[in-house]
Amino acid sequence: MNDTQTNELRDALESQRKEVLYDVSRHAAKGIGVGVIADETERADKIAENMVEHALSYSESKLLEKIDHALERLACGVYGICESCNKEINVERLKAKPSVSLCIECQIKKESRVS
Ligand SMILES: [Zn+2]
Repeated sequence: MNDTQTNELRDALESQRKEVLYDVSRHAAKGIGVGVIADETERADKIAENMVEHALSYSESKLLEKIDHALERLACGVYGICESCNKEINVERLKAKPSVSLCIECQIKKESRVS
């Protein structure tokens, strides 16, 4: 990976980070107002809605962790190296998803272990 590619990926990570932070703050600002709704159907809808919001914030915080981790790795000069097998991760893969820390082979192995 050359300097231009590294810089491009750093920019991509930083703008992704801003987007996630923006989404998180937007969700947090919405708040929860379930208690004050008298109508049962509306109340149920509201609860379902809140559950979706929570799931979203959870995946957002996970993504944020990954992005921060990738930025740390960039700062240490180990970005783009697979954390499992220490081989270089394909640049196209990094461009598509700059927060990945595993090469495609290790990712597949990991996913097949989980499921
Ligand atoms: Zn690997």
